[in-house]
Amino acid sequence: MSQSLTQHAAPGVLSLEAYSPGMPIEELQRRLGVASAIKLASNENPLGCSPSVRAVLSQALTGADLARYPDGSGHRLKARLAQKHQIDPACITLGNGSNDIIELLGRVFLGTARAALYSQHAFAVYSIITQAQDARAIEVPALPADAAQPYGHDLTAMAAALKANPDVALVFLANPNNPTGTWLTPEAIEAFLQQVPPQVIVALDEAYDEYMDPALRGNMRGWLQRYPNLVVFRTFSKAYGLASLRVGYSLSSPVVADLLNRVRQPFNNNSLALLAAETALDDEAFMAESVALNTRERARLSAELRALGLTVLPSQANFVAVGFGRDAKPIHQGLLERGVIVRPLASYAMPDFLRISVGTEAENTRFLNTLRDVLG
Ligand SMILES: *Cc1c(COP(=O)(O)O)cnc(C)c1O
Repeated sequence: MSQSLTQHAAPGVLSLEAYSPGMPIEELQRRLGVASAIKLASNENPLGCSPSVRAVLSQALTGADLARYPDGSGHRLKARLAQKHQIDPACITLGNGSNDIIELLGRVFLGTARAALYSQHAFAVYSIITQAQDARAIEVPALPADAAQPYGHDLTAMAAALKANPDVALVFLANPNNPTGTWLTPEAIEAFLQQVPPQVIVALDEAYDEYMDPALRGNMRGWLQRYPNLVVFRTFSKAYGLASLRVGYSLSSPVVADLLNRVRQPFNNNSLALLAAETALDDEAFMAESVALNTRERARLSAELRALGLTVLPSQANFVAVGFGRDAKPIHQGLLERGVIVRPLASYAMPDFLRISVGTEAENTRFLNTLRDVLG
């Protein structure tokens, strides 16, 4: 009987495993009866969001006409982003989180007889959308554990794979990558872009761009001008602290933006989310404080973990991947039982690793003390 219900499901969907998100604090408290848990599992901003966003949202809630549809074109947010990036608003596509952008790219550019190319240990949603679209997945082996960017993207191998597979329609790059934290230099990205045929779309995921050392940032506007097949996308979920509201966006050629717009849900961003994102862009002090906290605490966390004899991958993001040299599952469980939620990486083929989001100073200290306790 159940077979008849699945008979017409897309083959890719039938064999798909759903994305497993970081455990919400409430769930841990419910499951294990642990009080005052902390969550360092989803790379959220531990400072929350800009106070000006809170203020504008509470005001908007009083006056907002919730019965009206939002501005489906996201006009004001696009205008604000166009100004920030010095780019034509026609190059911008808004998404319900940048996850939505990844889906739009998949729906437009992937399907049977086409392939998507991405690195091993890259963000899980690339493979999910590829499979959901019944496209072929080409996962290129990552750099080795002893490379300068351990488990990071191997752009030389990716360029070679691209040449060997003329059915590739879409390439995903994450810079920095989640869950490894590893990064690509602007020179390496540009050298890669030069080797990509003009009909192949390169989707450059910059979800953690704000946390990167400014010296590592490329000239995105120049790239977009020189490589019309490039799509760069960012999110308000991480450094801007608006994960719950779901806003992301891409910058691309207007031709690609037009294609993405055709398959986009007409109202994929709600009114409050649009307003919050616009407001968040103006609070540069909050962003600076968030980035400074992350830079400082990421260094401390990494140093203290290394002092415990653990492997810490270099990171330009707001998390670190930590290797234990053995199955990390019992360590993950031990942390959970003590009210600390982190992210296991077995589903990323890194079973010896856990990913720790950088929290506040107090949260990181609690994590470190709890980890010492778990490790005995
Ligand atoms: C978190 C994340 C995203 C998606 O976040 P949204 O909340 O959907 O904007 C995209 N790419 C990477 C690499 C991420 O880590």
